[in-house]
Amino acid sequence: MLTNLAARDVETLIHPYTHLDKFRETGPIVFERGEGVHVFDTAGRPYLEGMAGLWCTSLGYSNRELAEAAREQMEKLPFQHIFSGRSHDPAIALAEKLKEIAPVPISKVTFCSSGSEANDTQVKLAWYMSNALGKPRKKKIIARTKGYHGVTVASASLTGLPANHALFDLPIQNVLHTSCPHHYRFAEAGETEEAFSARLAAELEEMILREDPDTVCAFIAEPVMGAGGALVPPAGYFEAIGAVCAKYDVRVIADEVICGFGRLGTMFGSQRLGMAPHTISVAKAITSAYMPLGAVMLDEPMYQAMLEGSREVGTFGHGFTYSGHPTACAVALKTLEIYERERIVEGVAAKEPHFLHRLAALEEHPLVGEARGLGLIAGIELVADKATKRQYEVKAGVAAKAIAFCQEEGLILRNLMGDRIAICPPLIITQAEIDELFDKLGRALDRTLDWIA
Ligand code: PLP
Repeated sequence: MLTNLAARDVETLIHPYTHLDKFRETGPIVFERGEGVHVFDTAGRPYLEGMAGLWCTSLGYSNRELAEAAREQMEKLPFQHIFSGRSHDPAIALAEKLKEIAPVPISKVTFCSSGSEANDTQVKLAWYMSNALGKPRKKKIIARTKGYHGVTVASASLTGLPANHALFDLPIQNVLHTSCPHHYRFAEAGETEEAFSARLAAELEEMILREDPDTVCAFIAEPVMGAGGALVPPAGYFEAIGAVCAKYDVRVIADEVICGFGRLGTMFGSQRLGMAPHTISVAKAITSAYMPLGAVMLDEPMYQAMLEGSREVGTFGHGFTYSGHPTACAVALKTLEIYERERIVEGVAAKEPHFLHRLAALEEHPLVGEARGLGLIAGIELVADKATKRQYEVKAGVAAKAIAFCQEEGLILRNLMGDRIAICPPLIITQAEIDELFDKLGRALDRTLDWIA
């Protein structure tokens, strides 16, 4: 029996990433409030938020300072656009701060309101740059299967997941996908991580040569892939891929929407994984998800090309009403201040060994084929046969069942395609809460095993 709110929901809302038909029977869980790493539903039941919402609420759910920063800015100047040369302090200060903490030299920052918009902007800027430099054929962008870059027409095209393309007539032209760097699933028998990385780099090189290097402008990747499975790349991957990109003048775009701001125990995921990007997309943890905000951080050569383009056209024809929204920027500035003051990134590095130790223990479980993570993000793959890595039939819905058991245990995690379970808690999680997370997950996996039997 659906509660009143749930019944109203079913009649009014479209839920992303939901089986819309089955949902009519089950209805939603409606949440009411949050405290630290826990959220509470309308019946007052607590859940440990093991996904930090959607990989984003890094400072948890009840940070008063962020609420205060928003209130102060809203009272002072709730909105001011930055079109046509207008500006305001929060946008300037935030752009300066991002330049200061960037992992590579950054010339300028352009703001938007989400990760999808940031990656959409990346596509447009890559094309704009090629045109401005007199290379109109250099337009192809290479992404990866299982990569996730968002849902706008361009960013969904970069995304390498079938559900984001089917029936939407995507991907658009000039977007290609190279192989997913998931060693557990795609390496050949006996292939080391380094050899697998070298093979993927060779494959990328073949693709660039086949397409003609003069037509390929950029390669985009998440440091650790999120929605595609919470996949940590194999050793040496970004070094090998980066060398190929450099050889053919292919610019590297880091999608740091999940990994940016400490997730891997370094300020940016690129730093942890040997990735040397020319431009960077950020969103999510930039405000601990308290306000919608995204940004593209771009290098000097791109800025020079943009100057050239705007001279030619008479203006730079891109930007959103909410680009550099003052309240979102004020909250982001406060978030970055808290990361520094509370040493949040160092805290992730300190908590990583315990997190990975509890994670590794899960590989003993009869259902778990792989349990791999980095910093405070991990992916677990459930298999029917550990020796052959055989998966359960999709329709058996094993990972979905495990997630339902997690929920009954008071833990929110997320199942991804291929019977994978993602873990990505708020960065403020304590060691005791990490134990609570893995204890609950362990019980849910035991119950899943009983259910299969
Ligand atoms: N890029 C990555 C790596 C993401 O994980 C996401 C969202 O999960 C996006 C881009 C899209 O961000 P948004 O949902 O804010 O549009």
